[in-house]
Amino acid sequence: MGTGGAGRFAPSPSGDLHLGNLRTALLAWLFARASGRAALLRVEDLDTPRSSRDCADRQIADLAALGLEWDGPPVYQSDRRAAYDAAIDSLAAADLVYPCFCTRRDILQAPRAPHSPPGAYPGTCRDLPADRVAELTAALPLGRAPALRLRSDGRAVTVNDLLCGEHTGVVDDFVLLRGDGMVAYNLAVIVDDLAQGVDQVLRADDLLTSAPRQAYLASLLTGTDDGAWPAQWIHVPLALGPDGKRLAKRHGAVTLSDLSALGITPPQALTLIAASLGLAAPHEPVTPHQLIARLVPSALPTTPWTPGFLGRGDLVE
Ligand code: GLU
Repeated sequence: MGTGGAGRFAPSPSGDLHLGNLRTALLAWLFARASGRAALLRVEDLDTPRSSRDCADRQIADLAALGLEWDGPPVYQSDRRAAYDAAIDSLAAADLVYPCFCTRRDILQAPRAPHSPPGAYPGTCRDLPADRVAELTAALPLGRAPALRLRSDGRAVTVNDLLCGEHTGVVDDFVLLRGDGMVAYNLAVIVDDLAQGVDQVLRADDLLTSAPRQAYLASLLTGTDDGAWPAQWIHVPLALGPDGKRLAKRHGAVTLSDLSALGITPPQALTLIAASLGLAAPHEPVTPHQLIARLVPSALPTTPWTPGFLGRGDLVE
């Protein structure tokens, strides 16, 4: 059963993948395979000060150690600047882009429009006259340019998530290009998903609130302008540490290399992750391929996962 579409795992290479990231990767791979889609890997290394090729290589090696193989070589966002610039140009040609000079503080202090979501851009720079834009541009420090924002129409967009149900968000004038020249996440992710033929977006559920903006942007870039992008959205629960905070290095043995140092092999880590999803019995040796047929979306846990190990690495399951 091939749909011709694709699912993807899109890690940011700013640290080794931890059990929560690896669990999301397994789910992205399983959902793609179970629905006859290609399973793609994309390295989201736009944040150059925080990302490195070495780190990406370690992430890719860890995914391979779990038995996750991908269709085709990974796509690196750092190679894709021309595509992001072309997308911004096409939006600008439709008068959907404007320069913004606001600092974070300006945005926090500006009065918010009624019904706008917290953190939404209040539209301060939306209608600046050209001479004011020139003046503000000239006053920027050397090497800085104004940020570029999408001229949205403030509509509410609803995405229908396979696990989370309907989620509605008001699309504000979000950033496409930052003042330091870095392409914004929301733009890059959609330009790449469209270019890679992705029609299944699986990732951790902390990004659910970004989905309405991204669906709207995808509709603009594909010329439908109806605010809808017919991708399957699947936002999966995060992994948390014992303190209830998002899983991190400080919680103990959370990466494959931490676990190996304790004698826990990658196949055992796969079992631990699969068991946490109800896809394997504790200690049952499994391969990712065996799990494809076991995937029943409605039976997956809907709450965050706190791996059953202690800071010192004693696996308690
Ligand atoms: N790179 C993002 C992250 O690591 C995920 C982006 C996405 O899947 O859309 O959180």
